[in-house]
Amino acid sequence: MVAAWLAGAVSRATGRGGGTALPGLLAERIDPDVLRTLARQLPRGAVVVTGTNGKTTTSHMLTGILRRAGLHPLRNASGSNLARGIATAMAAHADWTGRLRAPANTVGLFETDEAAFARVVPAVEPRVIVVTNLFRDQLDRYGEVDTVAGIWREALRVETGRREGAGAGTLLVLNADDPTVAALGSNGTGFPQRSLSLRGDGQEVGPPVVYFGLDDVRWGHEGPEHAADAKVCPACGARLRYPVCFYGHIGHYTCTSGHRRPDPAVRAIRVDFRGLAGTEIMLATPDGELGVTLPVPGLHNVYNALAAAAAAYALRAPLPAIRAGLEAFSAAFGRLERVEVGGRTVFLVLAKNPVGMNEALRTLALDAAPKHLLLALNDLDADGRDVSWIWDADFERLAGQVRSLTVSGRRAEDLAVRLKYAGVLDALLPSPLVGEGPGVRGSPAAHVEPDLARALDGALSQTAPGETLYVVLTYTAMLALRRVLTDRGHAAPYWEDDAR
Ligand SMILES: [Zn+2]
Repeated sequence: MVAAWLAGAVSRATGRGGGTALPGLLAERIDPDVLRTLARQLPRGAVVVTGTNGKTTTSHMLTGILRRAGLHPLRNASGSNLARGIATAMAAHADWTGRLRAPANTVGLFETDEAAFARVVPAVEPRVIVVTNLFRDQLDRYGEVDTVAGIWREALRVETGRREGAGAGTLLVLNADDPTVAALGSNGTGFPQRSLSLRGDGQEVGPPVVYFGLDDVRWGHEGPEHAADAKVCPACGARLRYPVCFYGHIGHYTCTSGHRRPDPAVRAIRVDFRGLAGTEIMLATPDGELGVTLPVPGLHNVYNALAAAAAAYALRAPLPAIRAGLEAFSAAFGRLERVEVGGRTVFLVLAKNPVGMNEALRTLALDAAPKHLLLALNDLDADGRDVSWIWDADFERLAGQVRSLTVSGRRAEDLAVRLKYAGVLDALLPSPLVGEGPGVRGSPAAHVEPDLARALDGALSQTAPGETLYVVLTYTAMLALRRVLTDRGHAAPYWEDDAR
């Protein structure tokens, strides 16, 4: 096992890749139990965050809250959310004998993707498991949603069963508004509804589930927008009805069999969007109500804040720590990031699947001004090889909203075809930089440039000083663009965010 600690130390000393996955891989080859061995030494146990969208943002928010609650979160790096990345995060704090050298208030805070979840959970034996949502994502890698849900259910059943036997109990923090996720907390005959008591004598009573959800129905509409988003009832298999749908399959659902969305313990009772500046949220928890000014926009970030607040509640963080942690949040790597470049504001948004893309487009719509836009689509392993998902995203929303458009990435041509069919290319607004003179009036500025650095230069040249360039891209395109910005001195390497 010694070689693993050595590998971690060497990686940190050389600074390669910010010390992410490689030494963990070595560690696992040498000792498959390394994850379990290290996790058992975490003084305050571990939290595992999983789901399709929002797990990095939720982990960042939760980190801020837990620090303010007096804990010391030990995290795995962004984008390294496999078992070996988690082993690496802990190996970095272990000595030559494999003993964890961490303060007594250390709590593990690990995000894991859908595929690694079933391996990570039995090894880490988390105190709290947070599930944000479950969407169709990267089908070529993970299989269908129901398959993933089945694997998770099995991992959770084994885990909660063992922990109950040991008298400990893993707490589930689940999105009540996602029927597939909520069903993970159902015992098959319904949802446990007894409230979780974390007060007084320190005895935990009630079932080990904390649901979170959105109660402000003003932001919903009836039924899913697309038939493909409809879900079947986990109890009887009939199609669920949505009196209130917020986005995708997220909302308030019911079934004639009596199955319905569980009542959330931690909920947003009022949400007011303040454009791109942020969001006012009134949270209700069993500990009381709490007004929070979240400094990031978008409904998806309301859900991330809810997930973080519910997890913090499950870990007994006090309300003032929850508020302070959420209000100090700055966007996680690439999820929604602002960079100043030559007097222009560059807004970076990660979108790796149809739901993420639709949320990105919805967030952009909060800025009513005609937009300069750079879209980039890659098809490397980390993006998902199959890019057909772009046909499930609502690019039609952009038609008539865009002043300059640059399309980039390895699959720029596919994306350009999609934008053509969405009516975006034919509805570009006149660009002042292209000119208003005879012959050029109304000339739209649309460019296809697969090279990201050149695409950025082109898009910036269309954006006047003081204006905003919106950049929406897939995962490896985000990495590549961050590298370009970093090389030019505009942004810090992303792993610096995680070294704190
Ligand atoms: Zn039913």
